[in-house]
Amino acid sequence: MSTTQIAAALFQLQQLDLELERLVAEQQAVANALQGSSNLQKLRAERNIAQQQLRSGLQAQKEAEWALEELGNRLKMQEQRLYSGAVQNPKELYTLQQEVQRLLAQQNRQEDMALEIMDAAESLQEIARRKAESLEQEERAWGEESASLIVRRDQLELRKQELQSKRAQMSSTIEPDILNRYDAMRRTKQGRAVSKVEQNSCQWCRVILTPSELQRVRTSSELQTCTNCGRILYYDR
Ligand SMILES: [Zn+2]
Repeated sequence: MSTTQIAAALFQLQQLDLELERLVAEQQAVANALQGSSNLQKLRAERNIAQQQLRSGLQAQKEAEWALEELGNRLKMQEQRLYSGAVQNPKELYTLQQEVQRLLAQQNRQEDMALEIMDAAESLQEIARRKAESLEQEERAWGEESASLIVRRDQLELRKQELQSKRAQMSSTIEPDILNRYDAMRRTKQGRAVSKVEQNSCQWCRVILTPSELQRVRTSSELQTCTNCGRILYYDR
């Protein structure tokens, strides 16, 4: 290989390496996106809270209903005693009447309370229903999105394997010393070890080459580097 051919091969290798880098970055982005949408997590948390509140609301409703039932039973029992004629003693009768009055008042209060609790449970039910609906919608949307992400992920993996085997093939034609130099330079020079010469200047840093530098890039038996940015110069015409 002539020096210009080596520079050309390194430039091609660099194009390939840059594509690989972009690809790996996209793979990372796709992998992150597949972790799940943050909106989905938020809606899931909201749905769980709404369900929890609904459970407490329903429990409170049940307890209020039990209390009301128990009160009703006690009232029925006392009323039966009162109207059965079994209690004759006026003083005892009076106490019993008082007790029935007290229980009736308590029943009224308990009924009001139970109604309030039932109203509250009803609105909690409505909130929980709406939260579940939003979550379901988001899950459907996410299902579609993640399906396309999975397709993209597989495409990227395939392309990466292609590029990697192409790279292995390409780098096998380049001398190991030069390849090592190229790899080391890429690490310290923002991934760009090779710079094209365009309009007599280094494409990377725009410094203009002198006629003798240009001459050397075209004809020297050694790779030439830019006097300003230090990158290997590649002249393709
Ligand atoms: Zn330069």
